[in-house]
Amino acid sequence: MSDQIRFMLNESDLPKNWYNVMADSPVPPTPVLNPMTKEPITPEFLSVLFPMEIIKQEVSTERFIQIPEEVREIYKLYRPTPLMRARRLEKALDTPAHIYFKNESVSPVGSHKPNTAIPQAFYNKVAGTKAMTTETGAGQWGTALAMACNFFGLDLEVYMVKVSYVQKPYRRIYMQTFGAQVFASPSNRTEFGRSLLAKDPENNGSLGIAISEAVEVAATSGGSKKYSLGSVLNHVLMHQTVIGEEALKQMDLAGEYPDVVIGCVGGGSNFGGIAFPFLRQNLKDGQRTRLLAVEPTATPSLTKGKYTYDYGDSAMMAPIVKMHTLGHTFMPAGIHAGGLRYHGMAPSVSALYDAGLIEAVAVPQIGTFDAAVQFTKSEGIIPAPESAHAIRVAIDEALDAKAKGEKRVILFNLSGHGHFDMTAYQSYLNDELEDYEYPTHAIEAAMKDLPKVEVEA
Ligand SMILES: *Cc1c(COP(=O)(O)O)cnc(C)c1O
Repeated sequence: MSDQIRFMLNESDLPKNWYNVMADSPVPPTPVLNPMTKEPITPEFLSVLFPMEIIKQEVSTERFIQIPEEVREIYKLYRPTPLMRARRLEKALDTPAHIYFKNESVSPVGSHKPNTAIPQAFYNKVAGTKAMTTETGAGQWGTALAMACNFFGLDLEVYMVKVSYVQKPYRRIYMQTFGAQVFASPSNRTEFGRSLLAKDPENNGSLGIAISEAVEVAATSGGSKKYSLGSVLNHVLMHQTVIGEEALKQMDLAGEYPDVVIGCVGGGSNFGGIAFPFLRQNLKDGQRTRLLAVEPTATPSLTKGKYTYDYGDSAMMAPIVKMHTLGHTFMPAGIHAGGLRYHGMAPSVSALYDAGLIEAVAVPQIGTFDAAVQFTKSEGIIPAPESAHAIRVAIDEALDAKAKGEKRVILFNLSGHGHFDMTAYQSYLNDELEDYEYPTHAIEAAMKDLPKVEVEA
């Protein structure tokens, strides 16, 4: 066993294909329903929002889909990303476990999100789209898409949750630097935004509201603007599998194979990205890696939500999908992990969790920041609060291995760095953070507003 810390691949090792888990998932896909008619949606409905190549990928059951050369060229700005062995963290924990992490924070904008922003912008460019619309919470997704649209010469309108727009100006400025137009949501640019502002001019917004605005702008543009989503959908999770495909090769370089693979889950994309290639090895190659999704106790869609049909957004304009959900009327608590506040979960992750092929755990906020700070002090990288959820559980696994005297190989995804999250760290250092457990009765209450669908839930 060498004492190597960084496991690096060459540019030529950059994956040539994305992996489509739908080819191997033992769970049949569930229908996606039109929010108005509650009937299965047609490609015509989707083509208002997305270019045809993206729609094809969304419903594809091909195992591997080739990554276009134009996309690989831009991936090369930061991929392959390093696989790191967190030896200093292992030492601090005095654990026999080996802790590895895939470092997606080295992308130009600091998270895994360009992995899908780049191909989405590319397929839109090729299809003749002139401008794109999207939503963003804390700004990670908007920044990634702003970079990608800039590379392909596309205009971009970003609807940014108002509370973040006001409190977190730096990512807004980052997006504007790429040339994107950024609007605080709810805005007066959409019918839905105006209706909310009429009721409450102080409305702070939510991710669901911002999604609705971005969808409305694209849907009413007469075809010139297309919409883009940064998580949840099949094609997004598929684009993220470059993470896991590289990690498989890098674990091989390290001469080990993970017993457990861990990722935080907001909509499920970075988790699916690292976990699905390992799931394939479980299903096809007899491996038995545990795949562990980590969510905040404030947004427990997998561990406490119901697996049922719900709207993808709060305006009830986005398609209805079967997923683990807290209800589309969910209003998140003000936790600092902005990227983990979505009410639902990717249908693919939901189905695999329901089938027992992946595991999930919810962790509270303060313990998560304890882990983030321990990681920063050991490895020098300040993690995104979202990624810190994965670190919390990686540390818990390492401590459990220590208690049991086991050598355990742990791999987690560092989905991003926390350089734009200093106010969250400041709150932690000032002892101002609170733990918050989303109440079961609120989930029960929200279930009354689920769409009534004909298909068996
Ligand atoms: C957006 C984001 C997440 C959550 O989104 P997923 O689709 O679940 O990956 C996690 N970490 C970071 C750094 C993010 O920007």
